[in-house]
Amino acid sequence: MTEATSTYTFKAETKQLLNILIHSLYKDREVFLRELLSNASDALNRLRFEMVTNQNVLDPQAELAIRIHADQEARTLTIEDSGIGMTREEVVDHLGTIAQSGARRFLEAAKEKHLDASGMIGQFGVGFYSVFMVAEWVRVTSRSFRPDAEAVTWYATGEDNYQVGAADRTVRGTRVEVKLKEDASEFADEYRIKNIIHKHSDYIGFPIYVGEGKEAVNKQTSLWRTPKKDVTEEQYKEFYKQTTLDFEDPLLHTHLVTDAPVQLYALLYIPARAERGIFALRKDDGLKLYSRNILIDDYNKDLLPEYLRFVQGVVDSEDLPLNVSRETVQSSGLMPKLKKVLTNQVMRELENLAKNDAEKYLAFWKEFGGYLKQGVAINPVEGESIYPLLRFKTNLKPEEWSSLEDYVTRMKPEQKEIYYIVGEDPKSVLRSPHLDAFHSQGTEVLLLTEPMDSFMLMGLRKYKDHELKNVAQAEAPKTAPKDEPEAEKIPEADFTSLVERFKQVLGERVTDVRASNRLVQSVARLADADANANPELQRVYKYLGKEYEIPKKVLELNASHPILKNLLKLDSGSELQTAIIEQIYDSALLVEGLHPDPSSIAPRVEQIIEAALERNVKN
Ligand code: ADP
Ligand code: MG
Repeated sequence: MTEATSTYTFKAETKQLLNILIHSLYKDREVFLRELLSNASDALNRLRFEMVTNQNVLDPQAELAIRIHADQEARTLTIEDSGIGMTREEVVDHLGTIAQSGARRFLEAAKEKHLDASGMIGQFGVGFYSVFMVAEWVRVTSRSFRPDAEAVTWYATGEDNYQVGAADRTVRGTRVEVKLKEDASEFADEYRIKNIIHKHSDYIGFPIYVGEGKEAVNKQTSLWRTPKKDVTEEQYKEFYKQTTLDFEDPLLHTHLVTDAPVQLYALLYIPARAERGIFALRKDDGLKLYSRNILIDDYNKDLLPEYLRFVQGVVDSEDLPLNVSRETVQSSGLMPKLKKVLTNQVMRELENLAKNDAEKYLAFWKEFGGYLKQGVAINPVEGESIYPLLRFKTNLKPEEWSSLEDYVTRMKPEQKEIYYIVGEDPKSVLRSPHLDAFHSQGTEVLLLTEPMDSFMLMGLRKYKDHELKNVAQAEAPKTAPKDEPEAEKIPEADFTSLVERFKQVLGERVTDVRASNRLVQSVARLADADANANPELQRVYKYLGKEYEIPKKVLELNASHPILKNLLKLDSGSELQTAIIEQIYDSALLVEGLHPDPSSIAPRVEQIIEAALERNVKN
């Protein structure tokens, strides 16, 4: 250094930050390179901007590029750009104090929490000083674009002082020379450097050359900024596979470029499967968020609602502040706007898919339907936009998937409500006594047999003008009486004594026993005592494992059923009669999907089998 060298002391907050960084055990130290490259890219962008109006710059013909040299023996790494450069004053201003608002927030958070702040470095993006995680010393040599400026050098070891002096650099731009700590020698390895570039800085808009390489290591132009007409299907798929390491093609991709209400480029994908493969690169949900081609967040979860968290891809917005940091992103009112645009786009794509390619849509539904149902459960209001995407099996079309709209168009003229039944699986639900009356008159009922369905129903109470009604609670819509003669009922007095027997046996377990007017094939059903009871909620509690008690219900009996007629013929109070009454109740619980311990039924079933055999087997 020349005689013009001066020593300066870092400001208190900078010292503090340096102290944390030097002693940091942060495992992803490689982010320092991302920060240095993003500074180089900023400097190049600023120069380019300057040259729009001012040709009077140093080296106007110099290529706008970034060059990296690594020397494993000397353990040094050099990052050089032909950007806007810095004057002596600028060096003192910019490298002597914390410029990064992220770094300042980081310090505040570190102070407040009194905890190991190093885990948060990557999250905050602390800027230039992050180099001290890996550096023994750093020397920055810079020459401003101003033709009359003098070259300057800045040197620091991470301790309290830094030195600034004159330098003999003749070309425009900045060179950052890093002497790596012993335990950071990996960053002098070109292969490692290239990997870091691919991971964090691939889409920086200027070429990055490593070593003697004549070809840029980074891609430079991002696919999402390439006009749609210039991108092939293959390129879209290839990009997806590269960013996710998914082996399968995505189910769907959408490329979005808008200028209003926000400027953004987005390339979004729906994977073919909900399960991530074991080799998947992406271990978490969230979109990659870029600001002007620089990655600021690998897993951003604020860009889409939770129910679309399976969507993969990249978002890049010019409207994000130039000073790239995660806080400025979060605090700017921009995120909700981006989220709205992106959500609408994904929903529109799904609606179009449902309309234009039913088969592919069903493939989507089978993988991701649960997420959408969850969306309905959690967001009762905005969840309405999800309704058209829901698909159901029904009692009349148990093998097909129908939308709510399909159901409504098939409704009978006199039908006002949409009926559903909740149960454990599609087959057993079809046997439910609640369906008797609906089934026999051909009324369509949605079959809701997945755990998530009960949650969904908490949000989904109405579609268009049609309330959703549980068949366990609803009366079947009135239809013209059938021609078939009705089965003969048990006489009133006999039925009353049978009801008394049921009450004696079941005691507290039921709130009442009475005749039903809506059972056809079934012998009994459990109904809610209170017309306003919420069977979905009962089920939700069961799934959540909340203190679950068998809800007390009314046992309704089919007074024309042969089982009951024969039950009357048994000795009242006999062991067999009691066992059969118990079994009728347990079976009703079973089809309801409410039985807490199904296998406990087996011994009683054996008892009944024995009785049946005794009567019928001729010795
Ligand atoms: P930020 O990039 O968010 O401003 P940094 O801590 O990364 O914060 O950088 C501090 C400042 O140092 C930058 O704002 C810039 O003015 C200056 N600087 C850093 N690297 C360079 C470079 N390669 N060329 C020109 N200026 C630079
Ligand atoms: Mg920076």
